[in-house]
Amino acid sequence: MKDQLFIDGAYVAGASGEMFDVIDPSNREVFHKVACGNAEDIDTAVAAARRAFDEGPWPRMSGAERAVILRKMGDEIEARTDELARMEVQDNGKPLPEAVWDIEDTAGVFHFYADLAERLDNSAEQEIALGMKGFTSKAVKEPVGVAGAIIPWNFPMLMASVKIAPALAAGCTMVLKPSELTPVTALEFGEIATKAGLPKGVLNIVTGFGAVAGKPLTEHAGVDKLAFTGSVPTGSRIMATAARDIKTISLELGGKSPMVVFADTPIDEAVEWIMFGIFWNQGEVCSATSRVLVEAPIYDAIKERLAKEAQKIKIGHGLEEGVLLGPLVSQSQHEKVLNWIETGKKEARLMTGGGVPEGLEGGCYVEPTIFVDVPEGATIWTDEIFGPVVCVKSFETEDEAIRLANDSRFGLGAAVMSADLDRAERVARAFRAGIVWINCSQPTFTEAPWGGYKQSGIGRELGEWGLNNYFETKQITTWD
Ligand code: NAD
Repeated sequence: MKDQLFIDGAYVAGASGEMFDVIDPSNREVFHKVACGNAEDIDTAVAAARRAFDEGPWPRMSGAERAVILRKMGDEIEARTDELARMEVQDNGKPLPEAVWDIEDTAGVFHFYADLAERLDNSAEQEIALGMKGFTSKAVKEPVGVAGAIIPWNFPMLMASVKIAPALAAGCTMVLKPSELTPVTALEFGEIATKAGLPKGVLNIVTGFGAVAGKPLTEHAGVDKLAFTGSVPTGSRIMATAARDIKTISLELGGKSPMVVFADTPIDEAVEWIMFGIFWNQGEVCSATSRVLVEAPIYDAIKERLAKEAQKIKIGHGLEEGVLLGPLVSQSQHEKVLNWIETGKKEARLMTGGGVPEGLEGGCYVEPTIFVDVPEGATIWTDEIFGPVVCVKSFETEDEAIRLANDSRFGLGAAVMSADLDRAERVARAFRAGIVWINCSQPTFTEAPWGGYKQSGIGRELGEWGLNNYFETKQITTWD
């Protein structure tokens, strides 16, 4: 495991010489120490990224040339899937099969953006039909410059790839600041990039705390674009900082996503997707469908089945066979979620869960928790908990379900389940959310746009939309 910053093509000690503890949430023990980056390190990293952008080969290479290196990065990640997935389990707590999906997806993101980079050679310029004779005009896409990326801890390597791959495909250079809670796999990108032949300075990784390393990155005048994924309060602070220098910004923030289940949905299918929608990755998922609205005729049946199934979930260490729920990422997240559960007990009816599983007190574990009959104004209904806690409530009519679903300051995900596909499509279009699932919840595809309405963010990642985040568009007009 790496413990140094990756700047200008080399692993280097941080300027302060200080290290911080990386903790395994399954036993709260320190398993690693990593360099504590600060403003000086950010300055060095941005200068390296600037040089690589202004003088280096990367932005001047063809898309096909960049694609070769991106593809090699994807291949290297793929070849190391098991090793990297095990690092994620120790760093984040998630069960191994889910960590394996993450790493496979991470490799897939590099392969996908390699393909898009290759296509840029034919698609980065577009002729424009002008309404006036005597002139010709074209629009040219150019890399935006040095990108600063700040990411959270819930999908550590995957989140990093969703920033790195499109930025590099576009021809940008980057400084990445991973979460202080899960810095381990992000640092591996240094080695992966070097092996693939990425020119020095194109990708720089500075580990450290938000206020110490993240803030100077957002304030740095040498950064042209900021790409942030994390909570609404931090996103809001970053947006205010970016406003000072008019930096281009994209924000992927929190959610409190609804799932509407109509009575014509087979109960088994409904229960399966409700469970997956909230309990995978310990509920630490921005798009988790944490507010479930069930049509009255099947409300009692769903509540009963959910409670039964939740009690069957195997909780434990992420490397243990058959475990579906690992520990939460950290002690502070554990305390936060347990506090939310205490609040929930005052606001609604606890159907099952609500505590620390017996025998697992040494780690940051929380039982899968279901609150039912949750009133509209309850804070557990309105606020993001970011843990394995679901709120369930009934509705009578389609209009009521849509109103309840949209009554949120967030607008990231939303799901609808119904055997009537016309109705499902109607409800899907009525949702005020950026990612909508019909008869499922959570499947995520590299090809499709990802992002939120309202306070859930600005802009879209993944697919071509993710690549477009890293371009400026230039008009070139000629008087013939
Ligand atoms: P967070 O906002 O606390 O931290 C995110 C990152 O920002 C970390 O790297 C942190 O060090 C950094 N940071 C903190 N303060 C900073 C500052 N002042 N300046 C610059 N950087 C700073 O969020 P978190 O707890 O790591 O992640 C959980 C949140 O992320 C949830 O709200 C979740 O919904 C959201 N999230 C959203 C998506 C999405 O795609 N929309 C995906 C994953 C997570």
